[in-house]
Amino acid sequence: MNKLPKGFIRFFLCLLCLSVASVVLPVAVSAQEKDQAPTLTSSPFFIQMPDKLAQGDPFVAWIWSAMPLNQGTASLTSPSTSKTITSGKFFYMPGDGPGSLYGVLLPIPNQTEPGTKQVLFDWDLNTDNGVQHVHTEKSLVIGSTEFLHESIPLDKANTLLETQEDPAKTAESLSFAKIFGVRDPLALYAGKTMTRPLTGEWRQTAGFGDIRLYKYYNGGTGTSVHGGIDLGVKTGTPVHACFAGNVVFAGMRIVTGNTIVLEHLPGLFSIYMHLSKITVTEGEKVDQGEAIGLSGSTGLSTGPHLHWEVRIGDVSVNPYYFLEHNLIDKEVISSNINALIEGR
Ligand SMILES: [Zn+2]
Repeated sequence: MNKLPKGFIRFFLCLLCLSVASVVLPVAVSAQEKDQAPTLTSSPFFIQMPDKLAQGDPFVAWIWSAMPLNQGTASLTSPSTSKTITSGKFFYMPGDGPGSLYGVLLPIPNQTEPGTKQVLFDWDLNTDNGVQHVHTEKSLVIGSTEFLHESIPLDKANTLLETQEDPAKTAESLSFAKIFGVRDPLALYAGKTMTRPLTGEWRQTAGFGDIRLYKYYNGGTGTSVHGGIDLGVKTGTPVHACFAGNVVFAGMRIVTGNTIVLEHLPGLFSIYMHLSKITVTEGEKVDQGEAIGLSGSTGLSTGPHLHWEVRIGDVSVNPYYFLEHNLIDKEVISSNINALIEGR
């Protein structure tokens, strides 16, 4: 058995008398026999996560552990059906403080049934006694979101763009989808809130999750769900990165026109469509607020606007959430770590 330093032992003993509401604790030490160092059987940790979200919101949780974890996952499940709604893997977030910090991102799909769900957290720990599996569950209430219905008339050009079979369009869809299946563990640009991609005058012309009825020029109809927010703005207006990130796509597409995709955290993407000009290149790193292109009306578009979208993996989530909530709140995490360490 490894001898633990004195300070470490005191740290664990202090944990036994903690009463911090947002903190979940496993048993940190086995019974301590006289003159013997405690055997480490688990590791103290806490999970920082919201307790209430709405349909279409993102779920962002931060898991801090005194010991490094491996193979961590979080799954959103419905207690009534025990079915997994969505799940994701932890990513490691480097930091200066004690212990190790991990993040996990899950989309709450728009069609999720409102009500109380469970988030199941699972990970492995390499302890003195071998690999130990840790499982913990937390409740998450999902509220309902009112998604608007809208009807959009499409002229002949846009109708054909939307409806015509086109192998080039199919190939573009497949290669575009691949971008959202890859998570770069080194895309670690978590900060506070996102900023709007337009700084001047604009007006919202379509919302996140709008249920659209396309009215084709020839009398036909089609439906789709709007994954982003449309901001009506005159062509040539600078478009800014809503958050620091890596440019993972920058190019022309048939339906979405000139398009940029940024990755901010592993699997967290923002997308900018219908641009008249792109001023960044793939592989480049951009800062929050940096100009990345100019707005326009390229692709399937009925007028000059910016389509701004945020996805977790391949699922669109409400971008406004990130304008109002910190992606990571380091002060809250630090105070929780201090509370654990000092028993405050
Ligand atoms: Zn749009």
